[in-house]
Amino acid sequence: MLKDQDRIFKNLYNDLGVDILSAQKRSDWSDTKELCSKGRDWIINEVKISELRGRGGAGFPTGLKWSFAPKVVGSRPHYLIINADESEPGTCKDRDLLRFEPHKLIEGCLIASYAVNAHKCYIYVRGEFFNEGQILQKAIDEAYDKKLIGKDASGTGWDFDIYIHYGAGAYICGEETALLESIEGNKGQPRIKPPFPALIGLYGCPTIINNVETIAVVPTILRKGSKWFASLGKPKNTGTKIFCISGNVNKPCNVEEEMGVPLKDLIEIHAGGVVGGWENLQAVIPGGSSMPLLPKKICDTITMDFDSLIKEKSGLGTAGIVVINKDQDIIKCIARIARFYKHESCGQCTPCREGAGWMWRMLERMTKGDASNEEIDMLMDVTKQIEGHTICAFGEGSAWPVQGLLRHFKKQIKKRNNFNPLIKQNKNIPYLIDQHLLEKENV
Ligand code: SF4
Repeated sequence: MLKDQDRIFKNLYNDLGVDILSAQKRSDWSDTKELCSKGRDWIINEVKISELRGRGGAGFPTGLKWSFAPKVVGSRPHYLIINADESEPGTCKDRDLLRFEPHKLIEGCLIASYAVNAHKCYIYVRGEFFNEGQILQKAIDEAYDKKLIGKDASGTGWDFDIYIHYGAGAYICGEETALLESIEGNKGQPRIKPPFPALIGLYGCPTIINNVETIAVVPTILRKGSKWFASLGKPKNTGTKIFCISGNVNKPCNVEEEMGVPLKDLIEIHAGGVVGGWENLQAVIPGGSSMPLLPKKICDTITMDFDSLIKEKSGLGTAGIVVINKDQDIIKCIARIARFYKHESCGQCTPCREGAGWMWRMLERMTKGDASNEEIDMLMDVTKQIEGHTICAFGEGSAWPVQGLLRHFKKQIKKRNNFNPLIKQNKNIPYLIDQHLLEKENV
């Protein structure tokens, strides 16, 4: 269990106050000038030594990402962008940081901007987070009033401004290049990479994009030392992490814990246990809806870090843990997720645009027991034709949950569909088109 002195987000449940004075009592803004005076190379190096990996889903090493920004500012300004879109179902950690720990984020923005030579920072807030955006704006105003940001921010000699930009609710705008398009006023559709945003990003300028939690932990890492952060968790999976636990648990919650904590501890100790008891557990989605689910057998022993979950063919993603007990129809759950991705595809790539709908319609038939046995292999084939054949990672995000279902619950799918006397008849129905569903969805 994480010791209290190692906790970074002490106000995660808003017990201590959001305002700047309360935040300063928790050491925010205490020595920002001194930290910056140690220089850009020192900051980036400390973040590298800490082995901090991005908390938005991909887990890319943060210090390395910062080092991609050009060392010298040329004719184009540099930008820092904070991704506060948080659209992944099962994830609600950034929301709590925006409303309960905004000063950690703002101070982190100043330090990160200083490190990557950016005078301007945009925080891209999910449109539905209007109230959270208002609280964040109030905190930004407080920081301006105290001269912590703005001209000569915190006495560092660095001019620094922050702007909030609200999204309009599209899931895909959480993808970093779609987010850039959205800020520029265009349709939120991902760009082909390369070029990467660190060199050609917002308005064609060098841009570093980080998740809220990633930036909010930086001031504490620099204050307490990179070695302290690296001593928590496991090698290459260091530090603390906010886990969001929801679904069939008795007490859904966000909790900060050490990386590598057993999944069972998170559910049993922090979330009050599975509804109906641990033996009633069916599966867990460990990292937001786009990560493949894990059956109970694996959940008994798995630890929550990037590498352990990859070994089990899943991923830490956003650490949005969705608990599914035996009262749920697991095929229906994944069909519902597939429907979400079908709805959110931006439509640029054919495998994603068409495949997401195919997966959903096939899963709907499997839910009802109307599918033929061949369709199980066909469904896996569709996921493989999407995975790795699209512009952005949304393709994988829509295919992986389906692959997880097929990997661990094939027997259940077969059982349900074998019992259907219409199997032979269904074999003749074109498997990719279901007129009834198309009409229902108005597509
Ligand atoms: Fe759009 Fe899907 Fe292609 Fe991503 S993978 S660019 S969401 S169509």
